[in-house]
Amino acid sequence: MPVGTQATVKAVPQDVLEDLGVEILLGNTYHLYLRPGVEQIRRLGGLHTFMSWPRAILTDSGGFQVFSLSDLRKVTEDGVTFRSHLDGATHFLSPESATEAQIGLGSDIIMAFDECTEYPAEPQRTRASMELTLRWAERCKRYFEEHQNEVPWNSPRHLAVSRQEVSSVEFQVSSNSEANQTLASQQATRNSKLETRNCTQALFGIVQGGMDRALRRESAERTIEIGFDGYAIGGLSVGEPRALTREIVESTLEHLPKDKPRYLMGVGTPEEIVEYAKLGIDMMDCVLPTRAARHGLLFTSEGKVSIKQARYAADQGPLDPNCSCRVCQRYSRAYLRHLYASNEVLAQVLNTVHNLSYYLDTMRRVRHSI
Ligand SMILES: [Zn+2]
Repeated sequence: MPVGTQATVKAVPQDVLEDLGVEILLGNTYHLYLRPGVEQIRRLGGLHTFMSWPRAILTDSGGFQVFSLSDLRKVTEDGVTFRSHLDGATHFLSPESATEAQIGLGSDIIMAFDECTEYPAEPQRTRASMELTLRWAERCKRYFEEHQNEVPWNSPRHLAVSRQEVSSVEFQVSSNSEANQTLASQQATRNSKLETRNCTQALFGIVQGGMDRALRRESAERTIEIGFDGYAIGGLSVGEPRALTREIVESTLEHLPKDKPRYLMGVGTPEEIVEYAKLGIDMMDCVLPTRAARHGLLFTSEGKVSIKQARYAADQGPLDPNCSCRVCQRYSRAYLRHLYASNEVLAQVLNTVHNLSYYLDTMRRVRHSI
C-alpha cells in the first residue's frame, strides 16, 4: 500500500496511481484529523470523494503518529492528550474518537487505536502497554459496532448528491462536445462506482507485545478473541535490529488465522516485502518508496541508485533497463540526474512514479509466484 498521508500520495496524481495499478492506499488519520478535519471531509462525502479515489483506502488509527510526531502527549486509560505538530493546539484521541474519525473519513479498512510500545522497553512496561492496547481494542470494536452505519457514503444525503452529480453530467453530455462527453462519462462512471460501493467498513485489530514472543502470542490470541476482520502486527520497525523484526513476525504469524488478512505495519524494503509475503503476510505499507524517491534514492532490479551522483551526468541509459514503467521507458539517467540536481519538481514526480512502479511490480511477481 503506497502511503497517502495527507489524502495524496506525494507528487503523484490519482489517475497515474490508477495506471500504475495501485489498488489500495493508506491515509493517516492523525494528519487528516488535524487538517482539513474529519468533519470537513465527511461533509464533502468522505475521503474517496474528497480525493477522487474510487479504489480502496486503509486509514491508520492515528495512534502511531500521536506517539511519533506530537509533543507533550499524556497517555491515560481513557486515551491520549497531545499537542498538534502544526499549531501546538491540544487534542484528545481515544479508542472511541479515533474510530469515530475513521468512520467519518469513510475509508474501507479502519484500524483499532493502539499504543505502539517503544523500543527498547522493560518487560513490565511491555505487558502493561499490551494490556492497554487490548482494552482499547474492545472499546474500538464496541464503538464500531454501534456507529458503523454512520459512514459518509451510507448517508442518504451523500447518495442524493451523487445522483444529482450523475444527472447533471448526463445533461452536459446531451449539450456538449465529444471531448466533454468522454470527461463526463468518466465522471459518471466514477460517481456510480462511489455510489455502488459495498457499504461496510472492515475493522482490523493490532497485535502488540514488544519483542517478547510469549507476549506476542498472548496479544494475538486475545485480539482474535475480541474478533476482527483482519489482524495487523504493530510495534515493529521501531528501531530494533532487522533479524529481530523477522523473528517476531514469524512467531506472531503462527498465532494469526490464515483465512483473515494479515497486515505488517510500516515495512519495508523491496527485499523485505518479498520475504514477509513468503512468511504469510498479506498487506504492508511503507513510506520508503515515496520518501526515498524524493531524496533521489531509487530502487532498481540492479540495486539501489542514488541519482544525485555525478557518475550519472552523462548516462544515456534508462534508470532500470528491466523496468517497463513510463519513466524508464522515456527518460535517461542523465536527465533524471539533471532534474534532481536542479531541484526541479518533476524530479520528485518521476522518481516517485518509478519507485512505486518498482514496488508494485515486486508485489505482482510475489502474487504470480504464489
Ligand atoms: Zn521504472
